[in-house]
Amino acid sequence: MSSIQIKSKLPNVGTTIFTVMSSLAAQHNAINLGQGFPDYAMSEELIAFVNEAMKTGHNQYVHMNGFMPLREALAEKVEYLYTTDINPDTRITITPGATYAIYTALTTILQPGDEVIVFEPAYDSYIPGIEINGARAVTIQLQFPGYTINWDEVKSKINERTRAIMINSPHNPTGSVLAENDMEQLRALTKDTNIIIVSDEVYEHLIFDNKKHESILKYPDLLEKSLVCFSFGKVYHCTGWKLGYCIAPEYLMKEFRKIHQFNCFTCDAPKQVALSSFLKKRENYIELGSFLQKKRDYFQGLMQQTKLKPLPTYGSYFQVYSYNDLSDESEKDFAFRLTKEQGVATIPVSAFYSSGTDNHVLRFCFSKKESTLEAAVERLIGL
Ligand code: PMP
Ligand code: GLN
Repeated sequence: MSSIQIKSKLPNVGTTIFTVMSSLAAQHNAINLGQGFPDYAMSEELIAFVNEAMKTGHNQYVHMNGFMPLREALAEKVEYLYTTDINPDTRITITPGATYAIYTALTTILQPGDEVIVFEPAYDSYIPGIEINGARAVTIQLQFPGYTINWDEVKSKINERTRAIMINSPHNPTGSVLAENDMEQLRALTKDTNIIIVSDEVYEHLIFDNKKHESILKYPDLLEKSLVCFSFGKVYHCTGWKLGYCIAPEYLMKEFRKIHQFNCFTCDAPKQVALSSFLKKRENYIELGSFLQKKRDYFQGLMQQTKLKPLPTYGSYFQVYSYNDLSDESEKDFAFRLTKEQGVATIPVSAFYSSGTDNHVLRFCFSKKESTLEAAVERLIGL
C-alpha cells in the first residue's frame, strides 16, 4: 500500500447500485431485471449505417460540438416534435451519453455553496454531480405512492442560494411523468429568478397510455433557463453506445462547451454519422412508446401470478413493485436475497434516496424479450 493519501472528493459514495446488482446477478446466474438495458437486438439498419460510415472514412475527429448533420437532424426533430426552433450551431452539443451531459451541465452552472433542488428517488449520478462541484443538494421526496411533486414544498425550499432545480420525466426509477400543471408550477416558481433547470429527458419517447411528454423544449420561457439532456442509447436500444446530447440557450451552451472541450472534446464519429441519417426515419422514435407499453403490459400481466403489487408506471423502462405482503426485510436485503435465492435481480428503490427511505419497493426493468420476462416471473411465482 502506498503511503500517499488523497482527500476523497466523494467520501460517502460507494459503487453504483447498477453495477452492484449486475455483478451480483452475474455471480448468481440470475435473470437481470435490475440495470436498465434491453436484451433484444438493436436495429440492423442502424448497425449497417455505422459500418458504412467507417468504411467510407468517417474515422477521424468530428467537430468538438458534434457532427453538424447530426445536430441539424436533431434541430429538425425538435422543430417537428415541439415546434421550437433551435440553432444547431450554437445550442446543441453531442456528448458521450446523458450522464456526461448532466454532469457537464451541473459543472457549467454550479459554484461552491450553491443549492440544487433534487427530487428523490433520484437517478444516482445527480447528487454526486452536485457535490463534486462544491454545491449542496436540497432534496424533496416525491409523494409516495404516486411519486408526484409537492410544489408548495418546492416553494418553501427556494432561497437566494438556489441555483438550480433538476427534473426528470419520464422518471427513473418510478415511471411517473410530469403533467402540464407541473410545468406551469415550474414556470411560476422560476419566473423572475436566477434559477436554472437541468432537465433529464432520456426517456422522452418512452411514455405510455396516450400521455404526452412534457418537454422543456415545448416551453420557450423555461428553455431560456434550461440545460436539457438526452440519450441516444435509450432511443435506439443501444445503451452501450454511450452517446447523447444537450440542448440549451446560447449563453449556457457557450460555458458548457468550454468544459466539454477539455474533458471529452468530441464523441465517436461513425456513430454520429450513422445517427444523422437514421434520425430522419421518424417512425423509429414515434413508435417507441407503444413498443415499450406492450412490454410493460405483458410484464404486468405475467406479474399478476405473483404476490408483488404494482405501482403505476407511465413511462421509462421501469415498473416499481411493492413486496409489503411478502417480507419485512429492507429493500436491499430483499433484492439481494431475490437475486441469490430466486435468481432474479432488481434494483432497491432506497438506493435512490440520500436518507435511504425504504417503502418496500423494488424496480424491475421490463425492456426485455418476452422470454426473459416469462423466465423471470416463473422464478417469482413461488415467493
Ligand atoms: N438519466 C437517467 C434517468 C437514466 O436512466 C440514464 C440511463 N440511461 C441516464 C441518465 C444516463 O444515460 P446515458 O447512458 O446516456 O449516460
Ligand atoms: N440508466 C440505467 C438504469 O437506470 C443504468 C445506467 C447505469 O448503469 N449507470 O438502470
